[in-house]
Amino acid sequence: MPADEHLTVVDHPLVQHKLTLMRDKDTPTAVFGQLLREISMLLAYEVTRGLATTTRTIETPLTKMEAPILAGPKLALVSILRAGNGLLDGMRDLIPSARVGFVGLYRDEETLKPVQYYNKLPDGMDRRLTIAVDPMLATGNSSAAAIDLIKEAGATDIRFLCLLAAPEGVTRMKAAHPDVPIVTAALDQRLNEKGYIVPGLGDAGDRMFGTK
Ligand code: URA
Repeated sequence: MPADEHLTVVDHPLVQHKLTLMRDKDTPTAVFGQLLREISMLLAYEVTRGLATTTRTIETPLTKMEAPILAGPKLALVSILRAGNGLLDGMRDLIPSARVGFVGLYRDEETLKPVQYYNKLPDGMDRRLTIAVDPMLATGNSSAAAIDLIKEAGATDIRFLCLLAAPEGVTRMKAAHPDVPIVTAALDQRLNEKGYIVPGLGDAGDRMFGTK
């Protein structure tokens, strides 16, 4: 897992294999969705590395032991709608007790700036580790705006999980939120003139929901 302080690229072969299948424009919606669910479990594994644990006394069939268990409070997963929901499903498979919030932002196609239309976060955000999820870190404008809202709700311990990142998005996030580490499956080359990640995988929401 090559990492600098702010950005971690998960170069695990399974992640990279699944990502290649997802990038392929001929991969159908149902397969894309299944791959996203699988890859998000693998990314969840990485983004939760280092979570605090405590111990609990249990009895195995053979003996008593002090066994490690996650320390509270429960995590908050925050999906940045709508594409964030694709990453959310796999993460919830792995961390079913996490609380879940949603931030609705759409990107104005003219200005590429985020516009908020929904904001529902769990209580006690100040005590939780929050993982914000959005598959595509493109300009970074909506991601940075979503993190603003999450911080306004009191969160101080935040990580950002995406599938693909553009250098422009990483730079924007690093400037706006240097305290929020980013975990991604790939750092792509650039944004095109429409704000799409190149080589990318196209519009993540359209690919996962079969819209156009
Ligand atoms: N959002 C997407 O869905 N795809 C991109 O390439 C950039 C932003």
